[in-house]
Amino acid sequence: MFQKMDLKKPASLFEMKQRCEYCQQSFEPEPGYYFGAMFISYALNTALFIAVWLGLEIFYPEYSLSLLLTLIVISAILLLPFFFRISRSAWIAIFIPYQASKETR
Ligand SMILES: [Zn+2]
Repeated sequence: MFQKMDLKKPASLFEMKQRCEYCQQSFEPEPGYYFGAMFISYALNTALFIAVWLGLEIFYPEYSLSLLLTLIVISAILLLPFFFRISRSAWIAIFIPYQASKETR
């Protein structure tokens, strides 16, 4: 669904293939298809923020607000390509069911 990650080409982290190489399903069925994936990404980031906050509460209770915010920003940036891919994959999986056969649509 996505191009291979190449850290020398940061744009490759967000590039998608046009079609599935097995069943030719389009990965962009209509313009703006992945708008709703934003909400999945939002949920993932909220879970990340809560995890970072709980981690600090448990392992370093004397943390300051600036440390908390710095850790949240750094972890959100590092995980951005992963959350992007997970949320888009989840979004398309909601509407286009998986088919094990190689039938073309
Ligand atoms: Zn396919």
